[in-house]
Amino acid sequence: MRCARLRSGYALPTPRAAQGSPSHQRSAILTGGPFCAPIRGPVCTPIDNYAATENEARYCSGAEAIVIGGGNSAGQAAMYLSRSADHVRLLVRGTSLATSMSHYLSSRLEADPKISIEYETHIVALHGSQALDGVTIQKEGAAPRTMPVCAMFVMVGAAPNTQWLTGLVTLDDKGFVMTGDAVDAGSPYATSCPGIFAVGDVRSGSVKRVASSVGEGSVVISKVWDFLNG
Ligand SMILES: Cc1cc2nc3c(=O)[nH]c(=O)nc-3n(C[C@H](O)[C@H](O)[C@H](O)COP(=O)(O)OP(=O)(O)OC[C@H]3O[C@@H](n4cnc5c(N)ncnc54)[C@H](O)[C@@H]3O)c2cc1C
Repeated sequence: MRCARLRSGYALPTPRAAQGSPSHQRSAILTGGPFCAPIRGPVCTPIDNYAATENEARYCSGAEAIVIGGGNSAGQAAMYLSRSADHVRLLVRGTSLATSMSHYLSSRLEADPKISIEYETHIVALHGSQALDGVTIQKEGAAPRTMPVCAMFVMVGAAPNTQWLTGLVTLDDKGFVMTGDAVDAGSPYATSCPGIFAVGDVRSGSVKRVASSVGEGSVVISKVWDFLNG
């Protein structure tokens, strides 16, 4: 179930489910995380990927895959997929990986004969009917090139999923939920609205890692308890 709306009334927030009746709560913890940023070019939601795990590596076995992005997630995905794919092509908008990827990772990518890095290049078309079977890419100032690929991995970052919270809790300039001292709230995970807390990736200034998100989730419970019993 998706939480579509939060209302604050009588000093108590009221979450509303997307379908069904409103449910009245005295406190809520926001853990919505981010959603994948869109890529420039064709819309491809049903066939893109934001994870490169064993399943995806098997799917790419013996074929060519394409990874879009110049950050560490894209680099790790390309390295991982290159173990099973015939070839992995990494598409990077910028002219280098120096500012966006760890040096140890970019060095390994550059040294891997099964990986090619295409700088200043973006996707202009996707091909296939039942499944993706090719892409057209274009380097700045060059002619488009079409090539067969079995899968495309989109690793171009994420944006916070918080538009629906605008006006209820204070967001930073990127849309992450501000908590603690930044909004003069009483505890590190409290937002500007009493009773509403935020933890994990959705929280402004959080570390954006699994372990820290889990840790924040466990710690915030005592703050909710304090709020409800304070
Ligand atoms: C490609 C990639 C690789 C990563 N690799 C690593 C790694 O190697 N190590 C590491 O530590 N971290 C890694 N991370 C980061 C890690 O995944 C996050 O830090 C962590 O998952 C954050 O947890 P979270 O609970 O805050 O958010 P999420 O895990 O994003 O969970 C948010 C959940 O809330 C749901 N949701 C959103 N809006 C609503 C709503 N309105 N109502 C109800 N539900 C909603 C979403 O569907 C989702 O299930 C990686 C992230 C990505 C994208």
